[in-house]
Amino acid sequence: MAGGFLQVNFGGFVPLSTVDWPGRAVCTVFLRGCPVRCHYCHNRDLQAGDDRRDTEEIIRLIGSTRMVVSGVVFSGGEPTMQKDALVALAEASKKMGLFVGLHTNGVYPETLRELIGKQIVDRIALDIKATWEQYPNLLKVRPETTGRIRESLALCREAYADGRLPGFEVVTTIFRGRENDVPVIAREAEGVDFVLQQGVEGMIPPLSFDEIKRIADRLNRPVKIRTREDGEVVYDKNRIIIAESIVLTDIMQARRNT
Ligand code: SF4
Repeated sequence: MAGGFLQVNFGGFVPLSTVDWPGRAVCTVFLRGCPVRCHYCHNRDLQAGDDRRDTEEIIRLIGSTRMVVSGVVFSGGEPTMQKDALVALAEASKKMGLFVGLHTNGVYPETLRELIGKQIVDRIALDIKATWEQYPNLLKVRPETTGRIRESLALCREAYADGRLPGFEVVTTIFRGRENDVPVIAREAEGVDFVLQQGVEGMIPPLSFDEIKRIADRLNRPVKIRTREDGEVVYDKNRIIIAESIVLTDIMQARRNT
């Protein structure tokens, strides 16, 4: 605790973002460090390194945007890797009256448990990056890490179902050649919002919006499709395409009621 304050390994700050929490203007705080090595990572410079700051400095940064944003999103790297710092930042943000969002790979369920237990997180976007069997080879994680991600999924689902977590979505980034993984991963997202995010990697042409729609058609459920070309679109082959972010579980509930 140099300088008398809790320290955070800082990765960056975006004072205004409309993409990190679709439908809400937020600031985004990137925390440095990640134990996973995704082949497609776009934030490789945040996977490691050291830029220690007082959490008070980051809280001031968040506070400086208070007049133009209604929320803050913590991203990375992997923000839950720094449990104490993230909890302190989320607590301070809630005290400012901000909604708190989190993007996570789920490797640290103990951090999620504390954030949810203290009711200082409003929305979690949890990545499920592959089928469970593929995690160790594809993402260079130890086999036991997969169990920790499953634990995160289970506790988020439970908190979302009982109302302690107001917003929850499962995000999978999809690539050409891995289309058949999606129905398997979709089973893990039953009953919660499921996002199909266009993966972009090297020279491999990314799946187009129409190609992702065809994958979604096999799921027989509404999804959110995120592409560079079209942003986020809510897609349900049985109904309509809605070009704005809404909660998919509302559509699923409406389906059940019709
Ligand atoms: S979990 Fe996120 S930050 Fe970590 S390697 Fe994967 S994409 Fe990059």
